[in-house]
Amino acid sequence: MSFCETELLNAIAAQNRARSLKSVSPVSPTSARVDGHLIHLFSGNDYLGLSGSETVKVALAQCGRDVGMGPRAAALICGYTEEHAMLESELAQLKGTESALLFPTGFQANLGLLSALGSAETEFFSDALNHASIIDGCRLAKGRVHVYSHRDMDALESMLKASAAKRKVVVSDALFSMDGTLAPLPDIVRLCERHGATLVLDEAHSTLVFGKNGGGIAEHFGLSAQVDFHVGTLSKAMGAHGGFVATSAARREWLLNTARTFIFTTALPMPMVAAARAGLRAATPERIGRLWHNIKHIETVLQRPVGSPIVPIHIGEESKTLSKAARVFDQGFHVGAIRPPTVPVGTSRLRITLSALHDVDTIDQLVEAISMP
Ligand code: PMP
Repeated sequence: MSFCETELLNAIAAQNRARSLKSVSPVSPTSARVDGHLIHLFSGNDYLGLSGSETVKVALAQCGRDVGMGPRAAALICGYTEEHAMLESELAQLKGTESALLFPTGFQANLGLLSALGSAETEFFSDALNHASIIDGCRLAKGRVHVYSHRDMDALESMLKASAAKRKVVVSDALFSMDGTLAPLPDIVRLCERHGATLVLDEAHSTLVFGKNGGGIAEHFGLSAQVDFHVGTLSKAMGAHGGFVATSAARREWLLNTARTFIFTTALPMPMVAAARAGLRAATPERIGRLWHNIKHIETVLQRPVGSPIVPIHIGEESKTLSKAARVFDQGFHVGAIRPPTVPVGTSRLRITLSALHDVDTIDQLVEAISMP
């Protein structure tokens, strides 16, 4: 049968899962004009509000003025500059590793790393709620994939026990992007050590949010050295764009020789690298403290533990989630309306994300808007 997009789109729409693009005009890291209205954003991942900070803006502008985009080539040709090298060593320092390797996005970091780890002798063990880039990385890799229920360490242990694979790879989000839950890292590390598994931890949402120095949950639990590959993004709390893998120098060498999403793509533009370096400098403990102040505040208002800047409000059905998000939008707030396939069927939700730059009065108004019938 020939391809018929209208039929396919109708099928998506019938399930209330149609997506559409809305263009926003950013006003600040926490607000934008949408259809002429000023809207508070509680939907992005710019947890420290650094994307529009003076430090990031100046770094972007200066680097852009000095060099433009920088060399347009793969890193292994001539796309890798001193600026890239400096950012890599700063990221390695943040993660407590010997080195780091930059990728154009966090998505590509997961795809490249996981597909490189795959082989006929590899088996992957992946949390059911892992990000799409992990799911796709495992699909792309050679090797069987075992999916354990979310944070279920008994399930992980029995899968590891039953596996005779030569190379076992456990992969998990650190802070789950749609749920705000944390990976039980101490248990995961214990199981990896017991069963000789390699550990990949994706700290996309937890870097610069958790840990005394912002190193993520690996630092928070004092287990940085036990993680084999720390995946991260420059596009969330760092306020820039790009991805990275932090690991030992030898593993970085192996990765840059094998990860196809690193080898066969153009390196990050220099101004973006400069922006990420500026974001790192501006991610002060004081700024991270302001984010945690807001997290504590919303916990008080909602009267439940939250524990991260990601606050899901569970609704269930797609249509109810969409209409709730629309009503909240009419009150001047944008929150994510998250539906399948991003989350499992029947678990659609509003996803609130907090920034260090939100003020408590606006958070109160948002919660009020959400609690209105
Ligand atoms: N991992 C996780 C857990 C994510 O949530 C995301 C982005 N939503 C990524 C990886 C991909 O990062 P990037 O946006 O830099 O491609």
